[in-house]
Amino acid sequence: MRAVGFFPEDRAVRVVDHPAPARPGETEVRLGILDVGVCGTDREIARGEYGSGPPGAPYLVLGHESLGEVLEVGTKVTGIRPGDLAVTMVRRPCGDPACPACAAGRPDFCVTGKFTERGIKGRHGFMTEEIVDDQRYVVVLPASLRAVGVLLEPLTIAEKALIEMGDVVDRLPWRRPAVGPRSAAHASDRAVVLGAGPVGLLGAMALLVRGYRTCVYSREPADSPEGTWSRSIGAEYVCGRDVPLAELPRRLGNVDLVYEATGSAELAFEALPLLGVNGLFILTGVPAEKRPIEVDADLVMRNLVLKNQLVYGTVNAGRDAFEAGVADLVEFQRRWPAALAGLVTGRYPPEACHEVLLGARSGIKQVITFAVRPAS
Ligand code: BGC
Repeated sequence: MRAVGFFPEDRAVRVVDHPAPARPGETEVRLGILDVGVCGTDREIARGEYGSGPPGAPYLVLGHESLGEVLEVGTKVTGIRPGDLAVTMVRRPCGDPACPACAAGRPDFCVTGKFTERGIKGRHGFMTEEIVDDQRYVVVLPASLRAVGVLLEPLTIAEKALIEMGDVVDRLPWRRPAVGPRSAAHASDRAVVLGAGPVGLLGAMALLVRGYRTCVYSREPADSPEGTWSRSIGAEYVCGRDVPLAELPRRLGNVDLVYEATGSAELAFEALPLLGVNGLFILTGVPAEKRPIEVDADLVMRNLVLKNQLVYGTVNAGRDAFEAGVADLVEFQRRWPAALAGLVTGRYPPEACHEVLLGARSGIKQVITFAVRPAS
């Protein structure tokens, strides 16, 4: 089978003839891969800066943002049928009996660090024609999401953050909504999204759906595709080159939530003082290691304490976030069909992997597609 492999030995990305997976066991599902999204993590792996292959393997099959079609299910699989559209989760438990998170089926909170991630750490990924995985990790999507289902995994980053936000809202009793999601905005809550990549823009949609007045702050010019896209879904867009971060509270008032999706520690810590009273600051980016930066730590700490602020980071996602993401994608498609479809800005064959993973970034979400099978 064709697959896109990263070869650490010669730091190369190329199409490899990868063995087909074994027939699915009783609780397993065989999927034909349709689309695989490319993100910053994949680009880092392709540059040899992150990730690792399965022990002893000469290459790592890349890809963790997938969409597939169910081809075959084991005899004990329930609720998943051939023909279903499905996304496969990324992280697998560490198997260490000392890890309560993995034992509870939540490897996204693994405490040992010995978890594996398909396409990233210790396990082959989804940039291949077919995969087999346990039904526990397979999430079914309605057929209407065929064109955009590949966005589910990057959306789960926001979904997990918002689920956690629902948990912390209980600290403010007057904010507990009588109905609807606990992450729903209160009155005219303000959210700022830092970064207009796929994680930021999907996060902006999720915040708008929950009622936040949402501002996307990013470096692209106001008339860039990102700026136009943000306004098309009803978000405000502020270009970081025109407006310094420090001016945002003057423009927006109390900032209740900051959702960071840039991976820039410099920007994130510069943005911390923007956060208003009782505010939440969510970090999702993974910055590369660089030299230390200067931070006004007194100011940060004073604000955190005197304004009852919470800062938290979130990585990977559990099944609850994937399921919430499916419901949100359906809602995004109902509200903003063109904008949602417009996030996928290019589909390329696996043979274009080098250019897509190592070439200059273009568009919002680039996808490697296996849906078009080569003529045999
Ligand atoms: C993926 C996550 C993963 C993280 C760290 C992200 O790009 O979306 O699933 O946990 O990288 O490896």
